[in-house]
Amino acid sequence: MEKIANRVRPNLFGMVPYSPGKPIGEVRREYQLDEIIKIASNENPLGASELVRQRIIEALSELHRYPDGAQYDLKQTLSKHLNVAPDTLLIGNGSDEIIKLLCETLVQPGDGVIYPMMSFAEYEFGARLMDAELTAIPLNADFTYDFDRYLSAVTKKTKLIFVCSPNNPTGTYIPFEQLRSFVKELPKEVVVAVDEAYLEYVTAPDYRSAIELIGEGYNIVCMRTFSKAYALAALRVGYCVAQADLIDYVNRTREPFNVNHLAQVAAVAALEDQAHVRKSVELNTEQRQILTAELERLGMKVTPSQSNFILFDTARNAKELYLSLLKKGVIVRTGFAGLDTYIRVSIGLPHENQAFLAGLKELL
Ligand SMILES: *Cc1c(COP(=O)(O)O)cnc(C)c1O
Repeated sequence: MEKIANRVRPNLFGMVPYSPGKPIGEVRREYQLDEIIKIASNENPLGASELVRQRIIEALSELHRYPDGAQYDLKQTLSKHLNVAPDTLLIGNGSDEIIKLLCETLVQPGDGVIYPMMSFAEYEFGARLMDAELTAIPLNADFTYDFDRYLSAVTKKTKLIFVCSPNNPTGTYIPFEQLRSFVKELPKEVVVAVDEAYLEYVTAPDYRSAIELIGEGYNIVCMRTFSKAYALAALRVGYCVAQADLIDYVNRTREPFNVNHLAQVAAVAALEDQAHVRKSVELNTEQRQILTAELERLGMKVTPSQSNFILFDTARNAKELYLSLLKKGVIVRTGFAGLDTYIRVSIGLPHENQAFLAGLKELL
Protein backbone atom coordinates (compact mmCIF):
# COMPACT_ATOMS: atom_id res chain seq x y z
CA MET A 1 0.00 0.00 0.00
CA GLU A 2 1.22 3.47 -0.80
CA LYS A 3 2.38 5.43 2.23
CA ILE A 4 0.05 8.28 3.20
CA ALA A 5 3.12 10.55 3.39
CA ASN A 6 3.29 10.39 -0.40
CA ARG A 7 -0.20 11.89 -0.53
CA VAL A 8 -0.02 14.80 1.90
CA ARG A 9 1.21 18.25 0.90
CA PRO A 10 5.02 18.25 1.31
CA ASN A 11 5.01 21.57 3.16
CA LEU A 12 3.39 19.75 6.10
CA PHE A 13 6.58 17.73 6.71
CA GLY A 14 8.27 20.80 8.16
CA MET A 15 5.37 21.50 10.55
CA VAL A 16 5.09 20.37 14.16
CA PRO A 17 2.03 20.91 16.39
CA TYR A 18 2.22 23.94 18.70
CA SER A 19 3.43 23.11 22.19
CA PRO A 20 1.41 25.18 24.68
CA GLY A 21 2.04 25.87 28.37
CA LYS A 22 1.42 22.66 30.34
CA PRO A 23 -2.24 22.40 31.43
CA ILE A 24 -2.97 22.39 35.18
CA GLY A 25 -4.82 19.03 35.05
CA GLU A 26 -1.82 17.33 33.48
CA VAL A 27 0.57 18.54 36.18
CA ARG A 28 -1.90 17.52 38.89
CA ARG A 29 -2.12 13.99 37.47
CA GLU A 30 1.60 13.56 36.84
CA TYR A 31 2.86 14.93 40.13
CA GLN A 32 -0.12 14.25 42.44
CA LEU A 33 -0.18 17.81 43.69
CA ASP A 34 -3.17 19.67 45.13
CA GLU A 35 -2.13 23.26 44.63
CA ILE A 36 -0.81 24.23 41.26
CA ILE A 37 0.24 27.66 40.10
CA LYS A 38 0.13 28.15 36.37
CA ILE A 39 2.10 31.18 35.30
CA ALA A 40 3.00 29.89 31.86
CA SER A 41 0.53 31.13 29.24
CA ASN A 42 0.21 34.86 29.89
CA GLU A 43 -3.39 34.57 31.06
CA ASN A 44 -5.09 37.23 33.17
CA PRO A 45 -4.71 35.98 36.77
CA LEU A 46 -7.82 37.86 37.95
CA GLY A 47 -10.08 35.81 35.70
CA ALA A 48 -13.00 37.12 33.67
CA SER A 49 -15.00 40.04 35.07
CA GLU A 50 -18.31 39.60 36.93
CA LEU A 51 -20.18 41.29 34.10
CA VAL A 52 -18.80 38.74 31.62
CA ARG A 53 -19.88 35.84 33.86
CA GLN A 54 -23.41 37.25 34.24
CA ARG A 55 -23.85 37.82 30.51
CA ILE A 56 -22.65 34.30 29.73
CA ILE A 57 -25.23 32.82 32.11
CA GLU A 58 -27.96 34.90 30.44
CA ALA A 59 -26.74 33.77 27.01
CA LEU A 60 -27.11 30.07 27.89
CA SER A 61 -30.76 30.26 26.79
CA GLU A 62 -29.49 30.73 23.22
CA LEU A 63 -27.17 27.71 23.09
CA HIS A 64 -29.32 25.90 20.52
CA ARG A 65 -29.13 28.83 18.07
CA TYR A 66 -26.35 29.51 15.57
CA PRO A 67 -24.25 32.50 16.52
CA ASP A 68 -24.50 35.80 14.63
CA GLY A 69 -22.23 35.13 11.67
CA ALA A 70 -21.95 38.86 10.99
CA GLN A 71 -20.87 39.48 14.62
CA TYR A 72 -22.94 42.67 14.58
CA ASP A 73 -23.00 43.59 18.29
CA LEU A 74 -19.34 42.89 18.84
CA LYS A 75 -18.31 44.82 15.73
CA GLN A 76 -20.42 47.81 16.78
CA THR A 77 -18.98 47.77 20.29
CA LEU A 78 -15.42 47.41 19.00
CA SER A 79 -15.96 50.08 16.40
CA LYS A 80 -16.94 52.58 19.10
CA HIS A 81 -14.20 51.47 21.45
CA LEU A 82 -11.47 51.86 18.82
CA ASN A 83 -13.02 54.71 16.88
CA VAL A 84 -12.75 52.84 13.57
CA ALA A 85 -15.41 51.93 10.98
CA PRO A 86 -17.04 48.48 11.39
CA ASP A 87 -15.99 47.48 7.86
CA THR A 88 -12.33 47.80 8.88
CA LEU A 89 -12.79 45.04 11.48
CA LEU A 90 -12.58 41.27 11.23
CA ILE A 91 -13.21 39.02 14.22
CA GLY A 92 -11.60 35.62 14.58
CA ASN A 93 -11.47 32.51 16.72
CA GLY A 94 -8.57 34.01 18.63
CA SER A 95 -5.92 36.04 16.87
CA ASP A 96 -4.40 32.67 15.97
CA GLU A 97 -7.17 32.35 13.42
CA ILE A 98 -6.59 35.88 12.16
CA ILE A 99 -2.94 35.01 11.44
CA LYS A 100 -4.01 31.93 9.49
CA LEU A 101 -6.72 33.78 7.55
CA LEU A 102 -4.27 36.52 6.61
CA CYS A 103 -1.86 33.94 5.21
CA GLU A 104 -4.69 32.21 3.34
CA THR A 105 -5.78 35.54 1.89
CA LEU A 106 -2.40 36.87 0.79
CA VAL A 107 0.13 34.08 0.38
CA GLN A 108 0.46 31.74 -2.60
CA PRO A 109 3.05 28.91 -2.65
CA GLY A 110 6.49 30.47 -3.07
CA ASP A 111 5.48 33.95 -1.94
CA GLY A 112 7.69 35.51 0.69
CA VAL A 113 6.68 35.82 4.34
CA ILE A 114 9.04 37.54 6.77
CA TYR A 115 8.66 37.12 10.51
CA PRO A 116 10.71 37.67 13.67
CA MET A 117 12.73 35.01 15.46
CA MET A 118 12.30 34.69 18.64
CA SER A 119 8.63 35.42 18.54
CA PHE A 120 5.17 33.89 18.39
CA ALA A 121 5.20 30.53 16.58
CA GLU A 122 1.94 31.12 14.69
CA TYR A 123 3.50 33.39 12.05
CA GLU A 124 5.76 30.61 10.83
CA PHE A 125 2.85 28.16 11.09
CA GLY A 126 0.61 30.25 8.83
CA ALA A 127 3.41 30.80 6.33
CA ARG A 128 4.38 27.12 6.18
CA LEU A 129 0.76 26.10 5.79
CA MET A 130 0.58 28.15 2.60
CA ASP A 131 3.95 26.82 1.40
CA ALA A 132 5.54 30.25 1.52
CA GLU A 133 9.19 31.08 1.23
CA LEU A 134 10.11 31.67 4.88
CA THR A 135 12.46 34.35 6.11
CA ALA A 136 13.00 34.48 9.87
CA ILE A 137 14.74 37.65 11.03
CA PRO A 138 16.64 37.35 14.31
CA LEU A 139 16.09 39.97 16.98
CA ASN A 140 19.05 42.02 18.21
CA ALA A 141 21.08 40.68 21.15
CA ASP A 142 18.91 42.76 23.52
CA PHE A 143 15.76 41.35 21.84
CA THR A 144 14.80 44.61 20.13
CA TYR A 145 13.85 44.65 16.44
CA ASP A 146 16.46 45.17 13.74
CA PHE A 147 14.48 46.78 10.91
CA ASP A 148 17.51 47.16 8.64
CA ARG A 149 17.64 43.37 8.51
CA TYR A 150 13.94 43.28 7.72
CA LEU A 151 14.34 45.79 4.92
CA SER A 152 17.25 43.97 3.34
CA ALA A 153 15.21 40.73 3.38
CA VAL A 154 12.36 42.24 1.35
CA THR A 155 12.20 41.06 -2.28
CA LYS A 156 9.65 41.27 -5.09
CA LYS A 157 8.16 38.04 -3.74
CA THR A 158 7.49 39.44 -0.26
CA LYS A 159 3.76 39.49 0.47
CA LEU A 160 3.47 39.62 4.22
CA ILE A 161 5.63 40.75 7.14
CA PHE A 162 4.87 39.96 10.77
CA VAL A 163 6.04 41.96 13.75
CA CYS A 164 4.96 41.55 17.36
CA SER A 165 5.01 44.42 19.85
CA PRO A 166 5.29 43.89 22.75
CA ASN A 167 7.07 40.80 21.51
CA ASN A 168 6.34 37.35 22.90
CA PRO A 169 8.38 35.72 24.54
CA THR A 170 10.78 38.62 25.12
CA GLY A 171 8.49 41.41 26.39
CA THR A 172 10.41 43.99 24.34
CA TYR A 173 8.53 46.54 22.23
CA ILE A 174 8.85 48.65 19.10
CA PRO A 175 8.78 52.43 19.66
CA PHE A 176 6.06 53.95 17.45
CA GLU A 177 8.34 56.22 15.42
CA GLN A 178 10.62 53.28 14.64
CA LEU A 179 7.65 51.29 13.33
CA ARG A 180 6.47 54.24 11.25
CA SER A 181 9.94 54.76 9.69
CA PHE A 182 10.04 51.06 8.84
CA VAL A 183 6.68 50.95 7.05
CA LYS A 184 7.55 54.17 5.21
CA GLU A 185 10.58 52.44 3.70
CA LEU A 186 8.65 49.39 2.51
CA PRO A 187 7.21 48.87 -0.97
CA LYS A 188 3.56 50.01 -0.87
CA GLU A 189 2.10 46.58 -1.70
CA VAL A 190 3.70 44.65 1.16
CA VAL A 191 1.28 44.04 4.03
CA VAL A 192 2.62 44.38 7.57
CA ALA A 193 0.75 42.52 10.32
CA VAL A 194 1.44 44.05 13.71
CA ASP A 195 0.53 41.74 16.59
CA GLU A 196 -0.60 43.85 19.55
CA ALA A 197 -1.76 41.00 21.82
CA TYR A 198 -0.16 42.67 24.86
CA LEU A 199 -0.77 46.34 24.06
CA GLU A 200 -2.90 47.00 27.15
CA TYR A 201 0.06 46.28 29.44
CA VAL A 202 2.48 48.76 27.89
CA THR A 203 3.62 51.69 30.02
CA ALA A 204 6.46 52.98 27.78
CA PRO A 205 5.60 56.53 26.66
CA ASP A 206 7.01 56.05 23.13
CA TYR A 207 4.68 53.14 22.34
CA ARG A 208 1.50 53.67 20.31
CA SER A 209 -0.85 51.34 18.48
CA ALA A 210 -0.28 50.74 14.78
CA ILE A 211 -3.98 51.51 14.20
CA GLU A 212 -2.88 55.10 13.74
CA LEU A 213 -0.77 54.05 10.73
CA ILE A 214 -3.78 52.42 9.06
CA GLY A 215 -5.43 55.82 9.26
CA GLU A 216 -2.37 57.26 7.51
CA GLY A 217 -3.01 54.89 4.58
CA TYR A 218 -0.39 52.21 5.22
CA ASN A 219 -1.09 48.56 4.39
CA ILE A 220 -1.05 47.51 8.01
CA VAL A 221 -3.09 44.88 9.77
CA CYS A 222 -3.31 45.48 13.47
CA MET A 223 -4.08 42.28 15.40
CA ARG A 224 -5.55 42.22 18.90
CA THR A 225 -6.97 39.60 21.24
CA PHE A 226 -9.42 39.12 24.10
CA SER A 227 -7.20 36.32 25.49
CA LYS A 228 -4.84 38.43 27.58
CA ALA A 229 -5.88 41.65 29.39
CA TYR A 230 -9.56 40.95 28.58
CA ALA A 231 -9.28 37.56 30.29
CA LEU A 232 -11.20 35.41 27.79
CA ALA A 233 -8.51 32.96 26.60
CA ALA A 234 -10.86 29.95 26.89
CA LEU A 235 -13.48 31.49 24.61
CA ARG A 236 -11.19 32.27 21.64
CA VAL A 237 -11.82 35.79 20.38
CA GLY A 238 -9.34 37.96 18.54
CA TYR A 239 -9.69 40.58 15.84
CA CYS A 240 -7.85 42.73 13.39
CA VAL A 241 -8.16 46.23 12.00
CA ALA A 242 -7.07 47.00 8.42
CA GLN A 243 -8.13 48.91 5.31
CA ALA A 244 -11.72 47.95 4.39
CA ASP A 245 -10.74 46.49 1.00
CA LEU A 246 -8.27 44.07 2.59
CA ILE A 247 -10.80 43.12 5.29
CA ASP A 248 -13.31 42.32 2.56
CA TYR A 249 -10.93 39.75 1.06
CA VAL A 250 -9.89 38.25 4.41
CA ASN A 251 -13.59 37.89 5.21
CA ARG A 252 -13.98 35.56 2.21
CA THR A 253 -11.63 33.05 3.87
CA ARG A 254 -13.51 33.09 7.19
CA GLU A 255 -15.85 30.26 8.24
CA PRO A 256 -19.38 31.67 8.65
CA PHE A 257 -19.65 30.88 12.38
CA ASN A 258 -16.01 31.16 13.40
CA VAL A 259 -16.74 32.97 16.69
CA ASN A 260 -19.30 31.27 18.93
CA HIS A 261 -22.19 33.04 20.65
CA LEU A 262 -20.84 32.91 24.22
CA ALA A 263 -17.55 34.32 22.97
CA GLN A 264 -19.28 37.22 21.19
CA VAL A 265 -21.45 38.04 24.20
CA ALA A 266 -18.47 37.81 26.56
CA ALA A 267 -16.28 40.02 24.38
CA VAL A 268 -18.94 42.76 24.31
CA ALA A 269 -19.26 42.59 28.11
CA ALA A 270 -15.49 42.59 28.55
CA LEU A 271 -15.23 45.76 26.46
CA GLU A 272 -17.98 47.39 28.53
CA ASP A 273 -16.18 46.55 31.76
CA GLN A 274 -13.10 48.73 31.32
CA ALA A 275 -12.74 48.96 35.11
CA HIS A 276 -11.77 45.28 35.13
CA VAL A 277 -9.18 45.87 32.42
CA ARG A 278 -7.72 48.81 34.35
CA LYS A 279 -7.55 46.74 37.53
CA SER A 280 -5.79 43.93 35.62
CA VAL A 281 -3.27 46.31 34.10
CA GLU A 282 -2.55 48.05 37.42
CA LEU A 283 -1.93 44.74 39.13
CA ASN A 284 0.35 43.71 36.29
CA THR A 285 2.37 46.92 36.34
CA GLU A 286 2.89 46.65 40.10
CA GLN A 287 3.79 42.95 40.06
CA ARG A 288 6.02 43.35 37.00
CA GLN A 289 8.15 45.81 38.95
CA ILE A 290 8.33 43.57 42.01
CA LEU A 291 9.09 40.41 40.05
CA THR A 292 11.76 42.15 37.95
CA ALA A 293 13.52 43.49 41.04
CA GLU A 294 13.33 40.17 42.90
CA LEU A 295 14.63 38.17 39.94
CA GLU A 296 17.53 40.57 39.59
CA ARG A 297 18.27 40.16 43.29
CA LEU A 298 18.52 36.41 42.66
CA GLY A 299 21.17 37.14 40.02
CA MET A 300 18.98 36.58 36.97
CA LYS A 301 19.48 38.64 33.82
CA VAL A 302 16.02 40.07 33.24
CA THR A 303 14.78 41.36 29.88
CA PRO A 304 12.87 44.62 30.54
CA SER A 305 9.20 43.76 29.93
CA GLN A 306 6.32 45.87 28.64
CA SER A 307 4.03 42.88 28.86
CA ASN A 308 2.39 40.50 31.35
CA PHE A 309 5.34 38.10 31.39
CA ILE A 310 9.05 38.30 32.04
CA LEU A 311 11.84 36.53 30.15
CA PHE A 312 15.00 36.00 32.15
CA ASP A 313 18.34 34.29 31.71
CA THR A 314 19.09 31.82 34.50
CA ALA A 315 22.62 31.09 33.22
CA ARG A 316 21.81 27.42 33.86
CA ASN A 317 19.99 24.61 32.11
CA ALA A 318 16.51 26.12 32.10
CA LYS A 319 14.78 22.83 31.28
CA GLU A 320 16.06 21.32 34.54
CA LEU A 321 14.92 24.35 36.52
CA TYR A 322 11.55 24.18 34.77
CA LEU A 323 11.10 20.51 35.72
CA SER A 324 12.13 21.17 39.33
CA LEU A 325 9.61 24.01 39.52
CA LEU A 326 6.93 21.68 38.09
CA LYS A 327 7.58 19.24 40.95
CA LYS A 328 6.80 22.11 43.30
CA GLY A 329 3.57 22.76 41.43
CA VAL A 330 4.73 25.90 39.64
CA ILE A 331 4.28 25.89 35.85
CA VAL A 332 6.42 28.34 33.90
CA ARG A 333 7.59 28.25 30.29
CA THR A 334 10.86 27.28 28.70
CA GLY A 335 12.07 25.61 25.52
CA PHE A 336 12.38 28.65 23.27
CA ALA A 337 14.69 27.77 20.39
CA GLY A 338 18.20 29.08 21.01
CA LEU A 339 17.31 30.28 24.52
CA ASP A 340 18.26 27.17 26.48
CA THR A 341 19.05 29.07 29.65
CA TYR A 342 15.92 31.24 29.63
CA ILE A 343 12.61 30.97 31.46
CA ARG A 344 9.47 32.98 30.72
CA VAL A 345 7.21 33.55 33.67
CA SER A 346 3.76 35.06 33.35
CA ILE A 347 2.89 37.67 35.93
CA GLY A 348 0.39 36.16 38.33
CA LEU A 349 -1.36 37.16 41.54
CA PRO A 350 0.97 38.41 44.30
CA HIS A 351 0.91 35.08 46.19
CA GLU A 352 1.58 33.14 42.98
CA ASN A 353 4.56 35.31 42.11
CA GLN A 354 5.91 34.95 45.65
CA ALA A 355 5.51 31.14 45.55
CA PHE A 356 7.39 31.08 42.25
CA LEU A 357 10.20 33.24 43.65
CA ALA A 358 10.46 31.13 46.81
CA GLY A 359 10.60 27.93 44.73
CA LEU A 360 13.23 29.36 42.41
CA LYS A 361 15.35 30.57 45.34
CA GLU A 362 15.35 27.07 46.85
CA LEU A 363 16.57 25.61 43.58
CA LEU A 364 19.45 28.01 42.98
C1 LIG B 1 -1.31 35.07 23.27
C2 LIG B 1 -0.95 35.65 21.99
C3 LIG B 1 -1.91 35.87 21.01
C4 LIG B 1 -3.34 35.58 21.28
O1 LIG B 1 -3.77 34.48 20.65
P1 LIG B 1 -5.32 34.11 20.72
O2 LIG B 1 -5.42 33.17 19.59
O3 LIG B 1 -6.08 35.37 20.49
O4 LIG B 1 -5.56 33.52 22.05
C5 LIG B 1 -1.54 36.46 19.82
N1 LIG B 1 -0.27 36.84 19.61
C6 LIG B 1 0.66 36.67 20.54
C7 LIG B 1 2.03 37.16 20.29
C8 LIG B 1 0.37 36.05 21.75
O5 LIG B 1 1.32 35.86 22.65
